[in-house]
Amino acid sequence: MGWFLLRPDAFKVLSDERARRSLGRYFGILDGRYYPKFMVASRISVDFSSDDSLRNLWDTHRDALREYTEVEGRLDSGGARFNDLPIPERSLLDLKAVMVRRLLEECCFCERRCRVNRAKGELGFCGCGDVFLLSSAFHHLGEEPELVPSGTVFSIGCNLVCLHCQNWTISQRYEAGDPLTVRELARIVEKLRREGCRNCNMVGGDPTPWLHVWIDTFRYVKAAIPTVWNSNSYYSVETAELLKGFIDVYLLDFKYGNDRCAERISSAPRYVEVCRRNHLEALSSGELIVRILLLPEHIDCCAKPILEWIAENLGTWVRVNIMDQYTPHWRAYEIPELRRRLYREEYEEAIRYASKLGFINLVPP
Ligand code: SF4
Repeated sequence: MGWFLLRPDAFKVLSDERARRSLGRYFGILDGRYYPKFMVASRISVDFSSDDSLRNLWDTHRDALREYTEVEGRLDSGGARFNDLPIPERSLLDLKAVMVRRLLEECCFCERRCRVNRAKGELGFCGCGDVFLLSSAFHHLGEEPELVPSGTVFSIGCNLVCLHCQNWTISQRYEAGDPLTVRELARIVEKLRREGCRNCNMVGGDPTPWLHVWIDTFRYVKAAIPTVWNSNSYYSVETAELLKGFIDVYLLDFKYGNDRCAERISSAPRYVEVCRRNHLEALSSGELIVRILLLPEHIDCCAKPILEWIAENLGTWVRVNIMDQYTPHWRAYEIPELRRRLYREEYEEAIRYASKLGFINLVPP
């Protein structure tokens, strides 16, 4: 409980009306009023065979998601009790696990669509195989106040190459990581919850290359812990679809306001289109916190267009964290303007612009 002293804002945020409005369901799970989505999905009965074609599985998944939405609504409104829902022979969560294994054989988890068979040992751009590689798992006290203490699980590997990455030893696989089975990972998640973590925060690198592991892991998690998808937002439509009915809170980076900067710094073609699409999907199927890490000299080309798009398309009530902690890491020296830290004036300019656009739910600095 020492975190109360280190992060008093993590306690105060529980009664913050703006945070509660953006993250009402998440707070409800913490209060014990609602169930995490993966638990609800585990009670949705689905009739399918592992031999069904992928096309049929997608049709089944779409229908099951409709039922999921209806059941979640009844549970949340008090019209049904979770413990009265029968445990099905095969659930929506089981269906997702089968589908994601199928996708792994021709990997399209992220927008790169490498189409390699990772189940047979082929590697794509991210270099991630089939078996999960753990870097570390701990109570993270540096996240947004509503998430702290956050049960953060850092995996090895990433589908982007951000030249300034602060976790580059993890994302670019300079660390080997510890191989884990899904049951071992499930035990770690349950332990983090028992120890008082508010959520399971899946991060890396990025969680996207390990989508198959995360979905399978939660088939074995019994604790009512909210799921947080902490991603660079560069995942495919298939991944976005499978995250529905699984992820409670999307903690999404909005890294760039134009594709030129995204390609130059992160080797991410069409980043803006993909990122926008995933933010829209996230808000329609779960709750959202947007992270904008300000980069030196990228206020006009990136931060401002990002804020404009969010205000127009997600609304000014969306929870946005404008972050000023940029520090040059790894190969940042290759990009001249990224060799220094952010100026105070650049941060203040971004905050002023957000206020001018009418944002009213910024994460306090
Ligand atoms: S997760 Fe992305 S980068 Fe990695 S193999 Fe799959 S499609 Fe390629």
